[in-house]
Formats: sequence, structure tokens, C-alpha cells
Amino acid sequence: MKIISINAGSSSLKFTLFEMDDESIIATGLFERIGIEGSKYTIKYNGEKIEQEIELNDHTDAVKILLEKLIDLAIIKSLDEIKGVGHRLVHGKDKYSQSVIITDEVINDLEAFKEFAPLHNPANVLGIKAFKEALGDIPMVGVFDTAFHQTMTEDTYLYPVPYKWYKEYGVRKYGFHGTSHRFIALSMKKILRKENFKMISCHIGNGGSICAIKDMKCVDTSMGFTPLAGIMMGTRSGDIDSSIIPYVMEKEGKNASEVVDDLNKISGLLGMSEYSNDMRDILAKIESGDEKAKLAEKKYVRRVVDYIAQYYVLLGGVDAICFTAGVGENSVPVRKDICEALSCLGVKIDLELNNKRGEFVKLSTDDSKIAVYVIPTDEELLIARDTLSLIRNR
Ligand code: AMP
Repeated sequence: MKIISINAGSSSLKFTLFEMDDESIIATGLFERIGIEGSKYTIKYNGEKIEQEIELNDHTDAVKILLEKLIDLAIIKSLDEIKGVGHRLVHGKDKYSQSVIITDEVINDLEAFKEFAPLHNPANVLGIKAFKEALGDIPMVGVFDTAFHQTMTEDTYLYPVPYKWYKEYGVRKYGFHGTSHRFIALSMKKILRKENFKMISCHIGNGGSICAIKDMKCVDTSMGFTPLAGIMMGTRSGDIDSSIIPYVMEKEGKNASEVVDDLNKISGLLGMSEYSNDMRDILAKIESGDEKAKLAEKKYVRRVVDYIAQYYVLLGGVDAICFTAGVGENSVPVRKDICEALSCLGVKIDLELNNKRGEFVKLSTDDSKIAVYVIPTDEELLIARDTLSLIRNR
């Protein structure tokens, strides 16, 4: 049975078409610069890569062309072969704790919650509507980034601010990257062959978050009301003292949104290194002796270690620590530095094995007190699995 996973952004639409009988990928692709000059698509299938510039006025155009191309390229014979569409949805507030069949209510909620994810929720709705228009009443499933974190308790998700802010304005920790953290927890369940274990999932990519998981449930996570909170990221600062905001507003003659924009877009690795948000560039600069790049990596590692230490205590010890996403899966020196800083917890890794990139590996040695793994994340596959399971059980 074929299922398509969709990740719709404000000007892009990514897809992965799966054959769910063996969970193999049939085709993947990206439609980008939707509604902007120079729009194009890329489709990869069967070892081939097709790239073409084409006018894409909106998401409906992108979906129409995507479906046409699947037929033209003989990737599928008929649209009827696609039995379900799974959408990555960003913000389900505290209403959605699981994936759901997409109904009008879900679409209305996404629209109602848009002030919580102004870039993402409206884009998600565009993606859903475009597929509805193209494929009629094909079953569609929504997989929320926030859902996995709904098991956090009040003392965790509340901020120590006036309670009214929570009650009246919804100010609380929501957490993001939930689909990835859930994928990692499910992978660990397979590895350990049990459900009752404690782990820390480190999704460290350009965006990044750490998640404390007990018995397959999120106990705490580092992102907060928005993805700006938590660890240092490619361009995001992560946690800072909020009084910095009015101070910099005054210094630079900016308003609050502009300073928050700076914290989202020109901070993190980019801000500290004054060079790049990409860890590969930072590591290359370190090789050439650049001090600011060294400092940026040191701070990055420190923030991750701080959260791991915090969650180690919160969970009362852990069975496993897992690295995933771009940096977690590939960045050998960053993993080494993080694990070295954790040696006081009895973490020991095999430095030879740590040289592997982009693949599953158990890094920890037999005498390590905590198992350490690299597990490549696969949010698209989890979206497809949820879609299949919900449409089967309708
Ligand atoms: P993501 O957002 O998950 O795609 O992760 C992007 C981040 O992963 C960027 O900072 C990349 O520099 C980093 N990354 C990807 N591949 C490598 C690599 N081979 N070595 C170091 N960092 C990498």
C-alpha cells in the first residue's frame, strides 16, 4: 500500500512516497520557491534525479504537478494507488496529543492556532487544502510536532510567570520535534526490546532540541513556547535572559519582533562565529585555528551537556542517550566533545566507532554506565506509519 508523507512550508512542499508493505521509499522530492520567482521541483526515484524550473503560483499548483509527474515518470500507474496522505503539522497546542485523521475541525484548529506558529500552521493548511482539491476525499492524517510532548506535567510545562498568561493567553512550554523524538524512542524500544526505560534524545541539527523520555513518554523537552528556547542552534540563541531584549531594542532602535528575529535568525553558531550556521563550516574553521569558531562549538556542546545533565537528574539516571539529526548523526567532533563532558556520569564511547557518519551505531563501550547510540531520524516514515495505522483503523 502506498502512502505519501508531506511537509508543507510557507514556500515549499517536501514529499516522500512510501511502499508501506516493506516501508521502502519509492520517490522523494521538493517543490521550492512556491509563489516566488524561480520556482522549481526536484524528484528523486529509482536512482534518478529530475530537476526542473516551473511556475508554481501556489501549493495547489505544486501538488497538481507533483501528482502529474508521479504518473508521467511511471512512478505510479494511477493516483488510486496512493491510499493515504500524511501531513507533518507543526502546532496542535494542548488539544492534540496524538496523530489524527484530518477533518474540517482539524483544519479550523490549525487556523485558530496560527498565532502560535505563524509561519508553519498556515502553510500546513495550504498543503492539506491542495491535496483535498487534487485527490478529493482521500484519507489524510495529521502528525503534530507538538503532540509527543503533551505528556509533560503542569510543573514542567508552566513557566514561573503570572498564571493569567497561561490561562488567558496559552503561555506554556509546548515543545517541538516531537515526531523525531518519538521515532527515536520507538527505535530504542526495538533495540532494548522493552518499553520501560529512561532515555535522553538529542535531536541536534540546524534546529535542535533535547527530550527526556521515560517509558516512551516525554517528561521534559528543551524547546518551549516557541522553537527559540533550549539549546544553542544554527541561527537560534536558545535560552537567554529575556531582559536582553529591551536592552538591545534600545541600543539598536529595533522593536521587540525585530530583536526576536535576530535571536532566531542571526544568533546561535552563526552569531557567535560571525561566520556560518553550518557545523561543517564551523569545524573546518576550527581546523584552521579560528578562535570564534572554537568558542561557538564549545558553547554549543556546553548547552547540550547542560540539558543532558539536567534530564539525567530529572529522570533519576538514564539507560540511553541518543544522537540524531544533522549534527547528531554526522558531526564526529561534536559527539566526542559532548560524550567527554559526560564522562563523570560514566559515559564511555569507542572513538573508532564514533568516526561513523549518518548511520545507526552504538557508540558506547561495554563498560559505559549509559548506552550511547546514533540513530538516524526518519520523521517521514513515522508520519507514513501513523497514516497507515489510522486509516486502517477508521
Ligand atoms: P539538519 O537540520 O538536521 O539537516 O542538520 C543540519 C546541520 O547538520 C548543519 O549544521 C550541518 O552542518 C550538520 N551536518 C550535516 N552533515 C554533517 C557532517 N558530515 N559533519 C558535520 N555536520 C554535519
